[in-house]
Amino acid sequence: MMTVAARGVAAGDAAIDAAQSPERLRITEIFHSLQGEADAVGWPTVFVRLTGCPLRCTWCDTTYSFQGGEWRTIDDVLEEVAAHGARHVCVTGGEPLSQKRCIALLARLCDAGYEVSLETSGAIDVAEVDLRVRKVVDIKAPGSGEVERNLWSNVARLLPHDQVKAVLADRADYDWAVARLREHALDARCQVLFSPVHGKLAPRQLAEWILADRLPVRMQMQLHKLLWGEEPGH
Ligand code: SF4
Repeated sequence: MMTVAARGVAAGDAAIDAAQSPERLRITEIFHSLQGEADAVGWPTVFVRLTGCPLRCTWCDTTYSFQGGEWRTIDDVLEEVAAHGARHVCVTGGEPLSQKRCIALLARLCDAGYEVSLETSGAIDVAEVDLRVRKVVDIKAPGSGEVERNLWSNVARLLPHDQVKAVLADRADYDWAVARLREHALDARCQVLFSPVHGKLAPRQLAEWILADRLPVRMQMQLHKLLWGEEPGH
């Protein structure tokens, strides 16, 4: 029987092997649902949720993805994605770009012919993301507690098929987002999405502010929360 110490070494070796392999990623979950947000809202979509995030947004609804997960090869991920039979694939997290091999995964998914989107925090450089991927890049408002993490150099990387998403907790967040919209002329680059923090900002209130200010933004609710609430797997 292996001693506790030997098991520790073996587990450590396995972690090192996985970490050094160019083809492995740490995956929290892969599931099939309706896309709840952004431009592809409503499409049946396979979600690939990568483990880990260097941010800690106050209103984060995927804290379970911060740790754990399972090391899987890109081939294995592609096989499970294919088994769901959907045309759309969303790579999300956590912060998927916190794993460098996410770049290779995105390219492989595009090569396989999927409509691929990437949900990213806006805190990590998106320069290496395959140009075929539709990036959904957050801008973190003060209410998130992570406003200083916004990497504004990403704005220059936005393509017309990408989207910028601001999740807003209150009027101060809204005013901040409007100022950044104008400062960076975000709507000239791609669609800009404003969403209320679930349970903190009344959707109708946000809608009225957007209309009153004649903002060139698209408001959105999270479809999966309307359909399934906080149930996992959606
Ligand atoms: S960036 Fe996303 S996953 Fe990370 S803490 Fe913020 S909301 Fe959660």
